[in-house]
Amino acid sequence: MKIIIRINPLFVALFCLLVQLSTCDLTGWPALDVPPPNRTDFTAKVDLTKVRNAPLNLVSNIANGTCPTTDPYCYNPCSKCTRSDDILHCPTVNDWGLTFDDGPTNDTIAILDLLKSYNLKITFFVVGSRVVSKSDVLLRAFQEGHQIGVHTWSHPYLTTQATEQVISELEWSAEIIKNVTGARPLYMRPPYSDYDDRIRDIASQLGYRVVVWDKDSEDWHFKDPGFQISWIASNFSAWMNEKSTTGHISLEHDLFTVTAQQAPLVVDILTKAKRNIKPVADCLGFPAVATPASSSSVKSSSTCRSVKSSATMDINYSNSWLIILFLIFGVNNYYYIL
Ligand SMILES: [Zn+2]
Repeated sequence: MKIIIRINPLFVALFCLLVQLSTCDLTGWPALDVPPPNRTDFTAKVDLTKVRNAPLNLVSNIANGTCPTTDPYCYNPCSKCTRSDDILHCPTVNDWGLTFDDGPTNDTIAILDLLKSYNLKITFFVVGSRVVSKSDVLLRAFQEGHQIGVHTWSHPYLTTQATEQVISELEWSAEIIKNVTGARPLYMRPPYSDYDDRIRDIASQLGYRVVVWDKDSEDWHFKDPGFQISWIASNFSAWMNEKSTTGHISLEHDLFTVTAQQAPLVVDILTKAKRNIKPVADCLGFPAVATPASSSSVKSSSTCRSVKSSATMDINYSNSWLIILFLIFGVNNYYYIL
């Protein structure tokens, strides 16, 4: 038996147009978790003569904990040195800047559901290259009022990167965030808290406030032998008993299911202790984004579009209704030949 299927060409053309319009076409972005290419328009945003000339660190030195003997550039990981503009905590007692890093991921969705049920807003520092395949998650977070901050494109140790590369890491990430949400972020968090005066100068010239934390949940240790996942909630419980003259900013991660799953426990601990969970921008009293998100600039659905070099293709599965439509109306003639 032979089966011949005839497809209406006019419908196919219409179908393709609909797919183009309705999917979040994030083709052409640099690859996942790989340093992005430099762009002259990004580099031109920074006056390189005003960037302090801190020497580049070696990944090997960072890995084995080798620190410089002097610290003229206030290199945070070794000396815990901070400058007055660094944001480590919320200024007001009982305010709590709850932050999750390294997403967006599928596990971010459960956190968003949880926060919605409590009517809470927090801060997500996202890795730009991970937005490409999870733009719907990022858009939801933004539309539900959460703050979105830059956490680089590929999550490198920034002090190991040349200045142009640091600029690219931040600006590619900001660009995809703006592309998806319609708003440019105003805050960045250096991966591993690896920053010094050179990184501060670059971030500042690009318009970002540098946010780290004063309460590390240490959830990033979860793969260590002997680590008990209950320690994350225990850390939060212990912090509730501390006397403090300021609020705090805590560090957690939504990259891994097991750490993201601690969010309900953490939110429960903080709310029972009457802490005011809020985005970092709110606890500081400064805007979260550069472009006020007017109703016209905020994307109302996954209609983001894109640009740039080569890379990955995002498939928006929420558009599966189009495939069903295609099968019902597009395939309009069946010939069965015996
Ligand atoms: Zn990170």
